[in-house]
Amino acid sequence: RTSIIDLLVPWAETIPDSVAVRTPPGPARVTLSHVRFLGEIGAARDRYRAAGLAPGDRTVLICPSCPEFLIELFGAHAAGLAVVAVNPLSTTRELDYILNDSGARLLVAHPAVADAAKAAAAGNEVGFEALPLVGNEGPVVKAGPDGAIGFDRADFEWNDLAALLYTSGTTGKPKGAMLSLGNFVSATDIVREMIRISPDDRSATGLPLFHVFGLAAMSLPALAAGVPLTLFPRWDPQAFVSALAEDAVTIISGVPTMWMSVLTNAPNGQAPNLRLVSSGGASIAGEVIRKVESRLDAPLTEGYGLTETSGLGTFNPLFGTRKVGSVGVTAPGFEVKIIDPAGASLPAGEVGEVVLRGPAVMLGYWKKPEATAEVLDAEGWFRTGDLGRLDDDGYLFIVDRIKDLIIHGGYNVYPREVEEVLYEIPGVAQASVVGTPDEKYGQQVTAVIALSPGAHLDAAEVERYTRESLASYKIPRIIEFVEELPKGPSGKILKREIVAMYTQGT
Ligand code: ATP
Repeated sequence: RTSIIDLLVPWAETIPDSVAVRTPPGPARVTLSHVRFLGEIGAARDRYRAAGLAPGDRTVLICPSCPEFLIELFGAHAAGLAVVAVNPLSTTRELDYILNDSGARLLVAHPAVADAAKAAAAGNEVGFEALPLVGNEGPVVKAGPDGAIGFDRADFEWNDLAALLYTSGTTGKPKGAMLSLGNFVSATDIVREMIRISPDDRSATGLPLFHVFGLAAMSLPALAAGVPLTLFPRWDPQAFVSALAEDAVTIISGVPTMWMSVLTNAPNGQAPNLRLVSSGGASIAGEVIRKVESRLDAPLTEGYGLTETSGLGTFNPLFGTRKVGSVGVTAPGFEVKIIDPAGASLPAGEVGEVVLRGPAVMLGYWKKPEATAEVLDAEGWFRTGDLGRLDDDGYLFIVDRIKDLIIHGGYNVYPREVEEVLYEIPGVAQASVVGTPDEKYGQQVTAVIALSPGAHLDAAEVERYTRESLASYKIPRIIEFVEELPKGPSGKILKREIVAMYTQGT
């Protein structure tokens, strides 16, 4: 059991014709059974070998969230390769950087994004292939007379590199977080235990697979548990909610902006089988949790993690006390500490930097020993760059990212606290609070708000509302209304872009 592939083979032996992975419902739906999925993975493995790549090499994968992504990922693993998974919306400049930094030998792209990818590969003397799209017919793996499937895969070890996922972290250029095959297996085992996933479940997600939350924390556990996984390549709240009843989905996962769009844009469809809405990647306001739970009639539990920790860390227990506003308790095998700037542990109740240790923590940053040493110590503790506190029961509360803290006239303002209040205002669909430069106060508390369709609200009303709940130095003095907030590849609201929007010319 050194890789996810070893967890897939038993399903192809025991439930060969059940669904492994599929595209959304509709006339063009592609459904792959376990034997088809593994058959396609074998075909991808053979392509990688035929391209002359050897175990230890890296290959770049650019693909939206569809079965082909997983086929290429596991096909590359079977050939002993590490996969650099890249956002399809990356610019040429970003691609050049990643191709160079990773030293990848091959770039494999979905046909829909092949042109830009091909040009980038040529410019960097990296091989290029457009990945073959799969249909409902194709190769299958066959069991021997004893019912066993001998799947041909490279010899690999627990600590071999599975993926390089580039993350910008707090400062500087993107860094490739090195996640091992063992990290993936650990993350998978931990999530399976936490949410007690069983073959009776059916999972659906609109998360991108090139991001760790969609991949390691959500899709791999479903596949490893033999649970049908429906992947939505584009986020469409209406199609997503409609599919829940049709596929009798029990588990869904997404980032807060997705759940907010379900509230504003999705029809009142039913989801009778739903037992878990898993939210992570960014903080979610208590008000949004309550609305989503009543809208979908299922518990929403929040998890916390980073690319560097395979998306894991803490999770609000599904089978225990959930505390709204908290990101829960440590995942099995994980430990958490709160430290002061000098690195000393702080007691419960005090705010400091969150540090995590556990089996899904990355090996380090690719070719960046200094950057690795800044975040990962010799005992395996990883500094997250987030501020948080633990309560007496060991529940973690994320206060904010250290880098997002606003200092207004010498006072600390945690944007998240202000955002919580904004989400309570009727008509607010999305809100983000950032610090913008200010001559007098250093930074000004600035709120950017998108309203629900048909809602009317002006800055004076917002200010009046926030005054009822917040000390005067926390009240947003600049309040802007926009149609949409800028979002990153995983659907997270991009604070740095908002800051840039409101600091031009200052
Ligand atoms: P990029 O690499 O694109 O800059 P990023 O910095 O957001 O993205 P990720 O690894 O995707 O990197 O995200 C990790 C961060 O997301 C955490 O450090 C934390 O700030 C935030 N986060 C994740 N889950 C939660 C949560 N449940 N509540 C609050 N914050 C969260």
